[in-house]
Amino acid sequence: MVKNIAVIRGDGIGPEIVDQALKVLDKVAELYGHTFNYTDVDMGGCAIDKYGDPLPEHELKKCVESDSVLLGAVGGNKWNDVPGHMRPEKGLLRLRAGMGVYSNNRPAKIWPQLSDASPLKKEIVDKGIDFIIVRELIGGIYFGEHKTEGDVATDVLTYSESEIERIGRIGFETAQKRNKKLCSVEKSNVLDSSRLWKKVMHRLAEEYPEVELSDMLVDNCAMQIVKNPAQFDVIVTENMFGDILSDEASMITGSIGMIPSSSLGATTCGLYEPIHGSAPDIAGMDVANPIGTILSAAMMLRFSFDMPCEADTIENAVSAYLDAGYRTADIMSEGGTLVGCRQCGELIIQNLRKG
Ligand code: NAD
Repeated sequence: MVKNIAVIRGDGIGPEIVDQALKVLDKVAELYGHTFNYTDVDMGGCAIDKYGDPLPEHELKKCVESDSVLLGAVGGNKWNDVPGHMRPEKGLLRLRAGMGVYSNNRPAKIWPQLSDASPLKKEIVDKGIDFIIVRELIGGIYFGEHKTEGDVATDVLTYSESEIERIGRIGFETAQKRNKKLCSVEKSNVLDSSRLWKKVMHRLAEEYPEVELSDMLVDNCAMQIVKNPAQFDVIVTENMFGDILSDEASMITGSIGMIPSSSLGATTCGLYEPIHGSAPDIAGMDVANPIGTILSAAMMLRFSFDMPCEADTIENAVSAYLDAGYRTADIMSEGGTLVGCRQCGELIIQNLRKG
């Protein structure tokens, strides 16, 4: 199969981690007889430097016309003082909206080899951590009106029934393929948008009788994720709540550097990226963990290219690498062998076996 992938290396550690994922994809292509063509896209701080714009229209076009997009990360201190509408992160919001990827899917799963890296108590970790957060990605407060007038700043939070319904369906369908438990997270004791959210979720529940729907307030959910993460199978929530909860969920699995994500809309053209940022504190030092990006590439193969064996091949190689005791600095523990970013990529490639 021939697939055209738009590649956004971005800023900070972005180029280092994306290069490892591309090397892995090249080896998978060789093993399975595919061709992956890459088109470089400038987005974020590097695009501000080059074009004065975090995502110029011509760069967005390359993404929309691709079969899928692989992204490292954008942002950094250098661009902290640019005006809000020009910030690197604006490029990311524009990319998500431009691609129409309304559903962000972030697994929170602990690798057994890394159970010691979780900050939670062993007895909590031993009960298992394996859930998915389905986050609405192109609505809500991040996309509402933002304004500052004098000493008053305003950000508007709006959701329509149709926006809630389409992400709700993804939540139910994801739960249907897993353990059939869906937890809808909102703040319906305070927010009108959350009351609408809850109403739509319960209406949808009638169409998915085999899925058990529960409601949880977001503040309670933040607490439950650290108290008893084993209770969750799939969480569906709005944009900002999902942003915050998914970072919390990633942390309990050990390292932010391990977690991939997929964002999809109405087509198979998806956006795949690790959940962390550009980590300017370690950029260019060859110490970043590229696994979140490598696993994002695996998700691309599974969800956008319908290549489940190829995706398994990558995930099995990551598991074999961890079994052998190799660790980048962020997940290093006693007895492990410390490796850098590039070496991590190379060791994972050595473990790629055709299934
Ligand atoms: P961050 O995720 O970049 O870093 C937080 C901490 O985790 C840092 O100590 C960093 O060294 C570490 N870390 C992150 N990824 C790692 C990896 N792969 N391996 C090892 N350690 C890793 O968050 P931040 O410091 O709050 O943000 C830095 C910049 O990234 C900011 O400009 C922010 O706006 C941007 N950002 C971008 C994205 C994105 O591109 N999707 C997401 C979040 C933040």
